[in-house]
Amino acid sequence: MTQPIQASSPHVMPTYGRVPIALERGRGCRVWDVNGKEYLDALAGIAVNTLGHNHPKLVPALQDQVAKLIHTSNYYHVPGQEQLAQLLTERARMDNVFFCNTGLEANEAAIKIARKYGVDKGITLPQIVVYDHAFHGRSFATMSATANLKVRNGFGPLLDGFIRVAPNDFDALVAATQGNNDVVAVMMEPIQGEGGLHPMRAEYLKQVRALCDEKGWLLIMDEVQAGMGRTGKWFGHQWADIVPDVMTLAKGLGSGVPVGAVVARGAAAQVLQAGNHGSTFGGNPLAMRAGVETIRIMEEDGLLDNATQVGAHLKARLQAELGNIPGVVEVRGQGLIIGVELNRSCGELIGQAAEAGLLLSVTSDTVIRLVPPLILTTAEADEVVARLKPLVQALLST
Ligand SMILES: *Cc1c(COP(=O)(O)O)cnc(C)c1O
Repeated sequence: MTQPIQASSPHVMPTYGRVPIALERGRGCRVWDVNGKEYLDALAGIAVNTLGHNHPKLVPALQDQVAKLIHTSNYYHVPGQEQLAQLLTERARMDNVFFCNTGLEANEAAIKIARKYGVDKGITLPQIVVYDHAFHGRSFATMSATANLKVRNGFGPLLDGFIRVAPNDFDALVAATQGNNDVVAVMMEPIQGEGGLHPMRAEYLKQVRALCDEKGWLLIMDEVQAGMGRTGKWFGHQWADIVPDVMTLAKGLGSGVPVGAVVARGAAAQVLQAGNHGSTFGGNPLAMRAGVETIRIMEEDGLLDNATQVGAHLKARLQAELGNIPGVVEVRGQGLIIGVELNRSCGELIGQAAEAGLLLSVTSDTVIRLVPPLILTTAEADEVVARLKPLVQALLST
């Protein structure tokens, strides 16, 4: 018998407009709801389930860890932190890591590093350059860095000390910071996720890196969504062959187990000392095991190459099947973070797609976002396109 899903519960704060389905179990890139209906998952819990669902290598490792230790405390050494920090710093060519639990916490710590880096140099009112369309989280500091007014408005005074510029416009960045001795950092996403899947150009990233070097500013890359192999390289900025001073990670790092990280290099790696920052849960043994196993399995199973190849295939198929429909503005992205921009609002597609057995999201009102697990196969990519196409055709023909 089909179970009705309650539209909303009076006991859960209505912070989300939810699709009226309830998911119960998953395997690979598929999930099933409480009524047994199957869905192809092209959302992966918003770029979180790197290894898909119920991965045959991840699940036993996590079970093993739960039976040993879930949480201790940062009062003691956590061997998993040393392991995961080594794996991350090697792949990023950076120096050290602070572990937290979420993307906003990682960005909050990055902002603290940038400010203290400035204050230690004698800058009392440090300023950080951020971008139009940026999304960095929903804490006071990170919503102040975020562009979207829906995220920012209604909470009273926000944090000062952010300068906002347009992405990919180097002259605008130079003009906005000209003669300003209080700038301490530039903070950006390599591909803006929530802001509509806008990539920073490689050439621009190289110019910003050089400017930061010249001025003594920190370059902070928010890799919370685009990092951990999603673009086909470990970190999105690596397509521009640059190394940031600070990089933040979360979403895909633990394949679904909450874990965030701030990775730092050079002077930025020396800013936070004992007593300056902390987290009760951050870096606990379960989260660390999830991160270590995610990286190990990604390498064993060649998931960076898979993201590159299946991502290129998915993008090409989307371009071929949707690109010529009037109203489709652009198909863009890199690896398995792909956006299809339409010339109109398309939020209703989320529910329609779920009904058609496809999980996806819409960002920035007009952009269909596909961020499937990195284990997606070519056949599954074709299925995504086949399920999506009639919905887009129907929407755009009205
Ligand atoms: C999701 C996201 C965040 C916030 O992460 P939470 O874990 O929800 O706090 C920050 N930055 C970017 C780029 C994101 O995509």
